[in-house]
Amino acid sequence: MKNTIATFFLLLFFNVLFAQSNFNFDKTELENHLKYLASDELGGRRTASKGEQLAAGYIARQFQSAGVKPAPGQPDFFQKVPFEIVKPPNGILAVESETFNAGDNLLIINGKPIETATEAVFAGYGWVDEATGVDDYKDLDVRGKIVFTITGKPDSSSPMDVYEAMPEKQRLAAERGALALFEVYRVNIPWTFSKGYFGKERMQLGTVGMDAEPGIVYGWVQESKSGALTGKLIGKNTSVRLKVTASLPENIEALNVVGIIEGTDAVLKNEYVVLSAHYDHIGIGKQGGAAYTPQDSIFNGARDNGMGTVALLAAAKELAAHPPRRSVLLLACTAEEMGMLGSKWYADHPLIPLEKMVFNLNNDGAGYNTTAHVTVIGLGRTNTDAELEQAAKMTSLTLLGDPAPEQNLYERSDNISFAKKGIPAIDFAPGITKMNDEVYKYYHQAADNADSIGYDYLLRFCQAYVRAANLIANKTATPAWVPGDKFEKK
Ligand SMILES: [Zn+2]
Repeated sequence: MKNTIATFFLLLFFNVLFAQSNFNFDKTELENHLKYLASDELGGRRTASKGEQLAAGYIARQFQSAGVKPAPGQPDFFQKVPFEIVKPPNGILAVESETFNAGDNLLIINGKPIETATEAVFAGYGWVDEATGVDDYKDLDVRGKIVFTITGKPDSSSPMDVYEAMPEKQRLAAERGALALFEVYRVNIPWTFSKGYFGKERMQLGTVGMDAEPGIVYGWVQESKSGALTGKLIGKNTSVRLKVTASLPENIEALNVVGIIEGTDAVLKNEYVVLSAHYDHIGIGKQGGAAYTPQDSIFNGARDNGMGTVALLAAAKELAAHPPRRSVLLLACTAEEMGMLGSKWYADHPLIPLEKMVFNLNNDGAGYNTTAHVTVIGLGRTNTDAELEQAAKMTSLTLLGDPAPEQNLYERSDNISFAKKGIPAIDFAPGITKMNDEVYKYYHQAADNADSIGYDYLLRFCQAYVRAANLIANKTATPAWVPGDKFEKK
C-alpha cells in the first residue's frame, strides 16, 4: 500500500515536472513585447487612440503567430466596443432666488438641452426598495417637475454607495416622469474633487450597452452653508428654473482582443478559463491626470499594464503550444482605465456563453516593490490557492495577498466584471509588499516606462502567471468560490 502511494506521487511529480518543463520562455521576446507596448510610439495607449489601436494589432498578430484561434464565428480577434465621449453640460439652476451655476456650485453629470420653469419636489433619498418597504416617492407627483434628493441611500451614504446608487436613482426619477434630478451633495469627499472627476469630459459605453442612461438631466448641487437649500425644498412646492445646454455625445470605438485555445480533454474543454489583462493606459500629457514635463509627457504604462499584457502574450504562446485540459479564452481588454469598461462590455456581450467560463485569472497591477514575490488580489476567495502557491514556488517566488484591503483593489480591475457575473475571479499582479513610495513613484505616472523595468523579474512574473493558468486549467476540481463569497451565485 505504502509503496503504491509513493509510486503514485512519484509519477505525479514527474508528470507535473514534465508538463511544466515543456514551456519555453524567451526572455528577449518578452522584453521586446514590453518595449514595444510601452514605447512612445504608442502614446500611452489611451482608449480608442491611434496608439491603442496599434497595440491591439500587435496583440492580435502575436495571437495569430502563436496559433491561437478567433472565437467561433468571428472573422478575427477583435471585438468592437462602442463608446460615447460626453462633454460636461453647461447650465443654471435657480431655486427661488438662489442661483447655482455649472462648474461652480452645480455639477451637471448628465445633460440634455432644456429650459423650464416648474416646481421642485423633495423626495428624501429618492430611493425605492420593495424588500425593505422604502418608497421615497410614495404620495409624490413628480411629473414635469424637478426632483431634489440627498446623495446616497437611506441606509448608507458612503462614497461607494453614493456612486453605485446614481444610475438607479436616475431611473426611478425618470420612470415617474420627472424632468430632472438634482442631489444635494452630502458625500464625505471634497466637492472640488467630485466636481473635477465628474465635471470633465468622460467616456462611457455606447447606449446599446447596459449603461443606457435615462433621458433626464441629472446632477449634484452644493448645499448652502446655512443648509437653507434643503430647508427651502422640504414639504413645499418651491419654484425652480433650469436651463441646460449640452452637445450630443461623440461616438467612437475601441477594441477588445479575444482569442481561444481549445482544451485537450474531451469533457473539460467545454469549460473555459478566462485569462485577461487590460492593454489600454491613460495617454499623453493632461490626459494622464498627473504631473508631466515636456521631456516626458507620455504615460507609457510599462507596469500598468504592459507587464500584464506581456504575461498574457506569454500565456498565448506557451498554452497554444501545450494546451491544458480546459479551454482558455484570452482577453486583452480596452478601457480598464475608463472604469473597467472593456471587460464589462465583454461580460455583457460574450463571444462564447458565459456559463462555460469557470474562472477568470486577470493580470493587472499597480507596479512592484519586490522581485521575490507575486501578488494575488483575491487570494483565499477561490479554491485555486494551492495552484497559485505551486506556480509561485516553481518560479522561486513567494505569493503575497492583497497589500491594501482598505483600497478595495479587488473591485478596481477587470476581474470584477467577471466576479459580478458570479464567475470565480482573481487578479494576479507583480509583487507589492505594501503601497509605498516605490509603488506610487510609477503608478499612473509618466515615469512608468520600459527603461525602469527589471527584465529578469518580468520573465519570472510571466512564468508564474502562465504556470498558474496552466495548473488551474488542468485542475481536476472545477474552480469555485470559497462558499459564502459575496460574488458566489446564490
Ligand atoms: Zn491597470
